[in-house]
Amino acid sequence: DLLVVGSANADLVIGVERRPGPGETVLGSDLAVHPGGKGANQAVAAARLGARTALLARVGADDHGRLLLESQRAAGVDTVGVLVGEDPTGVALITVDPSGDNSIVVSPGANARLGPEDVRAAGSLLHASRVVSAQLEIPLETVVEVVRNLPPDGRFVLNPSPPRPLPAEVLAACDPLIVNEHEARVILGDACVSGEPADWARILLAKGPRSVVVTLGAQGALVASAEGVSRVPSVRVDAVDTTGAGDAFTAALAWRLGTGWDLVRAAAYAARVGAAAVTRPGAQASYPTAAEVDALDGG
Ligand code: ADP
Repeated sequence: DLLVVGSANADLVIGVERRPGPGETVLGSDLAVHPGGKGANQAVAAARLGARTALLARVGADDHGRLLLESQRAAGVDTVGVLVGEDPTGVALITVDPSGDNSIVVSPGANARLGPEDVRAAGSLLHASRVVSAQLEIPLETVVEVVRNLPPDGRFVLNPSPPRPLPAEVLAACDPLIVNEHEARVILGDACVSGEPADWARILLAKGPRSVVVTLGAQGALVASAEGVSRVPSVRVDAVDTTGAGDAFTAALAWRLGTGWDLVRAAAYAARVGAAAVTRPGAQASYPTAAEVDALDGG
């Protein structure tokens, strides 16, 4: 079983002709409200593929929290670990301009209160999990507590997004650490100013994770482990909206590792899931079933 520990946000999206400058007001489209947040996205992506998935997260006792719980349940996610508290559900205020560029303000809300004590209280969920997947839209100390409470044969997968420096204890637990190019740059700092993604993967691996995956958008991904670096091809698709592709990739990879696939095979499958997710608009709304992944060209 897969446990996702992470964020749940309501994405509030308004289309604008151009984004406002300081002190300026612009008129935009009608408001669209979508369930989002990296943790909630990953859980829905995995469950839609058929994975037995649970989510450990925090939402508020408000409409946004209910929207998130509903979308998790509709996808088949076990929501016993979705804690409802007094703090408001996290919100992402997103403006999108006609070229598709967006500006985002996030109010973490309840996500900031998902604490180490919540991880300890979720011991039975953790111990029932072969793979635990986390991101960084929750407090880092909560992620540290997850690493300290992994079951003996449990595997930990981390997408460090939004990126920040990671303690050695967390890095050492990652199998794999999954980063896109931006996250790789932040975590490596100056170390990747020059060099190719394959070099970044090697340098990241030297920082302590048991394995590393670098996602490269339409170029697929790189997998680095003690066995070396290999390239995972992507699937050629007409990209409509890449929102949430990385979350779908990570969820699919984590699930497949839990079913016993090796890292390269799991990453190749995850690349197909990511490709399928970019062919439709939205994040959670774009996530494919296993049958849809199998139906992609080259499957
Ligand atoms: P993020 O969404 O975190 O920025 P990427 O853009 O690297 O991550 O996308 C994650 C994965 O989704 C990629 O490794 C790839 O498998 C798939 N993907 C993303 N964009 C495309 C695309 N345009 N065509 C095919 N696959 C894509």
